[in-house]
Amino acid sequence: MKEQRQVAAFLDEHDLHTPPAYRLLDLAAEVGELAADATASSDYGASPDALDVERDELGDALFALLALADELDLDAGEALDESLAKYEDRLVETGSAGST
Ligand SMILES: [Mg+2]
Repeated sequence: MKEQRQVAAFLDEHDLHTPPAYRLLDLAAEVGELAADATASSDYGASPDALDVERDELGDALFALLALADELDLDAGEALDESLAKYEDRLVETGSAGST
């Protein structure tokens, strides 16, 4: 995945490699920032149609996820393909993409 290679190059260039456990914590923190945006914009769910997140926070979460994939030597594109195939199978088998 091109984006994973971009993140990996950024980590290399700026000497930002860190163990996967810390990348996972960073990912959780960034997803938490998305949740904070969602709760604030929707007034804690009182106005669900107003729910919004900042694009840069989505980017932070994506960066953190791709950095985690890089530190784990996992191909994010292959992982996404695998996930899409799993959801496709579930839709065919159960009519829903969600797990039970
Ligand atoms: Mg952020």
